[in-house]
This record gives sequence, C-alpha cells and structure tokens, in this order.
Amino acid sequence: MTRSADAAPSPRLDAVVQMLRERAERVTVARRAVLEVLDGTEEHLNADEIAARAAAAAPGLHRATVYRALTRLGELEMVTHTHVGGAATVYHLSVIGTDVERGQHTHLQCTSCSVVIDIPADVLHPLASRLLNDLDFRIAPEHAALLGTCAACRATESTP
Ligand SMILES: [Zn+2]
Ligand SMILES: [Zn+2]
Repeated sequence: MTRSADAAPSPRLDAVVQMLRERAERVTVARRAVLEVLDGTEEHLNADEIAARAAAAAPGLHRATVYRALTRLGELEMVTHTHVGGAATVYHLSVIGTDVERGQHTHLQCTSCSVVIDIPADVLHPLASRLLNDLDFRIAPEHAALLGTCAACRATESTP
C-alpha cells in the first residue's frame, strides 16, 4: 500500500530527498512520487505499477515522466532494480542512511509458480567473496533473482 498523506513522515524518504538536494538534483513531482510509492511498500512493483500508483498520487503526472524519473533515480543508485521472470523488472528503494549495504535483500524466484521471495543479501556474501578472490568477478546479487523451485511447488510435484 502507498503511504497516505497523513501517515507519519518516513526517515528513509527524508534521507533520499536530502541526498537528492545534496547532489544538486531536482526533487521533481515525479521523482518524489516514485520515491513515495517505493517507500510505502515492500511489494515487488514493475515500472507500469509504479507509474500507475505515482499517477494516482499526483494527478496529471505523465507516465513517460515517471519512467524517466525511475531511470534517473536508478542511475543515482537511490533505486535498485531486479530482473524477475522473463522481461519483468521490479524496483526497490535503495538503503540510505544505514550501514547496511545497498541491496539489503536479494531475491529467489520459483520457476513454477513465479513467486518472488526476499532473502538477506548476506546469504550470498561467501559466494561473492569467493568469486571476487578466485575470478576477480564482482557479482551484483540484487540485480537478478536466483531461479529454483519453492517449497510449495516441490511438495505438489512430489505428490502423485
Ligand atoms: Zn513455486
Ligand atoms: Zn524484494
């Protein structure tokens, strides 16, 4: 759900807005609407869903403007995106103002039912450091979901 206007102010949202100002980036209606949508939910929203919610919160906002805002916030590393299932991409607010790494959680996706599951990013730290040490390759675990089969689907599959 999107945070309603009378809800308590969000420290995370304030921190991102502050960061935009510090970088001399404009806090446009579209950018603010995108940040508010992402701050107000733990859902995995794609660009269309974000645009629809942003437009509902700020009537008159053009979708193309929202997409541009989303892209720019990604370039500024204030929003992360994850590729899930086919062409779909979902977005999260990046972690700001904490000592937690960017991409504080990463994703699993079931290839059978398409459910997306959040897992702590540090689950992949041993793999990440090994790949960096052995192959000098830095993985970006927040950038794509790891594919597999969820418990529910495996239970169904094993039932005759
Ligand atoms: Zn499943
Ligand atoms: Zn997530």
